[in-house]
Amino acid sequence: MKMNLPFPAELLELLACPACEHRPPLRWQEGALVCDECHRAYPIRDGIPVLLVEEATQAEPSPPSEGGEQ
Ligand SMILES: [Zn+2]
Repeated sequence: MKMNLPFPAELLELLACPACEHRPPLRWQEGALVCDECHRAYPIRDGIPVLLVEEATQAEPSPPSEGGEQ
């Protein structure tokens, strides 16, 4: 399986979601690292994963509906 990671694949295994107590592996998805546990998406800046809860966006499995923003 080939992923266009901007950083070494080994690093992905070391990264963990800062919002979750246990360490689910983060998933690479469309330019962001997604946590399957809390569905946060962490951005990548200049090839560096930004694993900050306040920087994370909510990864929605389905398209957001109108006016559903909190
Ligand atoms: Zn998480």
